[in-house]
Amino acid sequence: MTALKPVGFFLAGLVCVFCFSNPADNNSELKKISENVYVRIVSPDSNAVGNAGVVVFERAALVFDTHFTPEAGREFLAQIRSITSKPVRYVVNSHFHPDHTHGNQAFNDALFIGSTITRRDVLNVDLASMNRAVATAQGQLEKLRRDTAQDTAAAQGQHLRDLKSRQDYLDTMSRQKIIPPVVTLDDSLIIQDGKSEVKLCWLGSGHTEGDTVLFLPREKIAFLGDLFFNEAIPNVQDACMLDWIKTLRETLKLEADKFVPGHGPVGSRKDVETFLGYLEEIKSLVESAIAGGSNMEQATREIQVPEKYSSYKFKDFFPSNVQKMFSEIKAMKIASSPMEGPPKMEREKAK
Ligand SMILES: [Zn+2]
Repeated sequence: MTALKPVGFFLAGLVCVFCFSNPADNNSELKKISENVYVRIVSPDSNAVGNAGVVVFERAALVFDTHFTPEAGREFLAQIRSITSKPVRYVVNSHFHPDHTHGNQAFNDALFIGSTITRRDVLNVDLASMNRAVATAQGQLEKLRRDTAQDTAAAQGQHLRDLKSRQDYLDTMSRQKIIPPVVTLDDSLIIQDGKSEVKLCWLGSGHTEGDTVLFLPREKIAFLGDLFFNEAIPNVQDACMLDWIKTLRETLKLEADKFVPGHGPVGSRKDVETFLGYLEEIKSLVESAIAGGSNMEQATREIQVPEKYSSYKFKDFFPSNVQKMFSEIKAMKIASSPMEGPPKMEREKAK
């Protein structure tokens, strides 16, 4: 039997944190953080994976992010029903990662809103990735069926287990709908309903190119999505780390005192500043390593999680943080270096 590549976790690369291990761990309740504003802070080990929030307007409710699976989205909706009977008219996706969007289908009647870049990435990256994974699984399933038919009785047991696993995976995927934003913003968008107002802003690239922030000026609350990992090392797979530093500084200009992260507990302004400090420290450590002549491999080995952040979760992401920063700084140096002129000796002669 040829070795089969597991496809069951194809989404893991896109998910902001590691795949959940036990759906039963997902028992987070909605927590009120202001009049009509609620958050659902979830465990990364649950089937929800990423945090979400709700704003209850005069006539309708708005949801910010929808968790990792349709089931988690439905559990979220059931909890919303315990606080309001108003229709969920708006769903804002902070960015395209599945742990913030794959619960969308639980809110089928809502208007889906996100940045123009997030719409692009949902369609070109997430949907494309799912289509590729499904095609791979279908090919594997057909091959397994052929192999199983020719198997000896002894080999059939494992093949039948593999067949079931591929079929379960395809069944799960067939229930998953990828829903992109249908209303998109390039810079900002204001939603008003009664006395409530929310401002959606794209403040620059960071965790992805398309991160959208939700700001409630009256309540002084900002939902930052994955621009803010509170007490955790961030996933930087789709990040622009140097831009992230600038964009996070922009978020600190919002007159908010509660900052809701994509992962981790609700934070204060100081917590966002601490996370910004983490990114700045990685930049500084990588710059020193480059100045000292280290290549990426050496820098990854030499730079360890600074003591100040030793309590952070998701430390397995740390090497990728160093590598991403290394490649961005190197690329910037190459881009900003003067055009190569004639060799030095020839320049001397030309004087
Ligand atoms: Zn993310």
